Amino acid sequence: MMKLEGKTAFVTGAGSGLGAAISRAFAREGARVFVSDIDEKTAQAVAAECSAFTPGAVAGVCDVSDSASVDRAFARFDDTLGSIDILVNNAGIVHRDADYVTRVNSTGLAQAGELMSGSPVSTHWEVIENTTDAQFDKMFKIHMYGTFYCTRAALRRMRPAGNGGRIINIGSIMGSASLAGAPDYCAAKGAILAFTRATAREAASYDVLVNAIAPGFIETPLLDDISPETRGLFALQTPLGRLGRPDEVAGVAVFLAGPDSTFMTGQVVSPNGGIHMSQ
Ligand code: NAP
Repeated sequence: MMKLEGKTAFVTGAGSGLGAAISRAFAREGARVFVSDIDEKTAQAVAAECSAFTPGAVAGVCDVSDSASVDRAFARFDDTLGSIDILVNNAGIVHRDADYVTRVNSTGLAQAGELMSGSPVSTHWEVIENTTDAQFDKMFKIHMYGTFYCTRAALRRMRPAGNGGRIINIGSIMGSASLAGAPDYCAAKGAILAFTRATAREAASYDVLVNAIAPGFIETPLLDDISPETRGLFALQTPLGRLGRPDEVAGVAVFLAGPDSTFMTGQVVSPNGGIHMSQ
C-alpha cells in the first residue's frame, strides 16, 4: 500500500527545488497533488510529472504573498481535487540583487581567510545596515505571511471536513541556529517555527498535525547565486561534507504527511547533514 494513497495535497512554490521534489514524492506515494507556484509554466511541468505517478495532479498559480491569490488557488483546489488532506508551505526566496549576492559570496570567505592567517576579522557583513524596507517586507510577505495565508485557508477547510489533516512548513536551520548574512531570512524562518508550534496546539483538537522541516544547505536553484567557493565553505561546515539533495528533504515530508508520524505535532525535523545538532 502506498503511504499517501487517496490523499490530496496542496504544495506551494512547487515549480522548482524542494517543492517539486516533495510533489513528485507525494505523487509516487499515491497522492493527487495541487502543484502551485507563482510561475504557472513550472507548475504545469511538475504537475505533468506527478500525474505520471498518480493521475489527477493539477497545476495552479498561487502567489503566497497575496491573500487574494491564495484564496483563488484554494477555490480552484476545491473545484478540482475536493477535500484537502495535506498542505506544504514551501514557497520561499533569497535576495537576488547584485550588491547582496556580492556581499554574501565575499564576506564569509574573507573572514575565514583573515582568521586562518591569524589576523583579527576586519571584513564585516554590514547586511542589516544595507537592508531596505522593501527587501525586509518581501522576505516576510513570502515566507511568514504566505505560510499564514495558506494555513488559514487550509484550516478553514480541514476543521469542518472532520478528517484531520497534515500541515508541513518548510523552515530552515537558519530559523534556529542562524548564520550571518541573511538576517531577514533567519527571522522569517524563526517566525515560521514559532507559528508551527502555535498552529499545532490550536489544530490538535481536530487532529490536524502541524510540523516543520528545517533543512540545511540543499542543492536547488535557490543557491544558484552562491559561488563554488562559498558552497565549499558550506560543505566544510557540514559534518557529512556535502550539500543535501532535494529527495533527502522530500522523504522527510512523506514521513510527516503519512501514516508513520501520527504522534508527531509541533516538531521540527532537520535534514541538515549535521551542520546543526540541536537536541
Ligand atoms: P527554489 O528552487 O527557488 O524554489 C522556490 C519556489 O518558490 C520557486 O519556484 C519560486 O519561484 C517560488 N516562489 C517564489 N516566490 C513565490 C511566491 N510569492 N509565491 C509562490 N511561489 C513563490 O528554492 P528551494 O530551495 O526549493 O526552496 C524551497 C523552500 O525551502 C524555501 O522556503 C526555502 O527557504 C527553503 N529552504 C531551502 C534550503 C536550500 O538550501 N535550498 C534550505 C533550507 C530551507 P521563482 O523561481 O519564480 O522565484
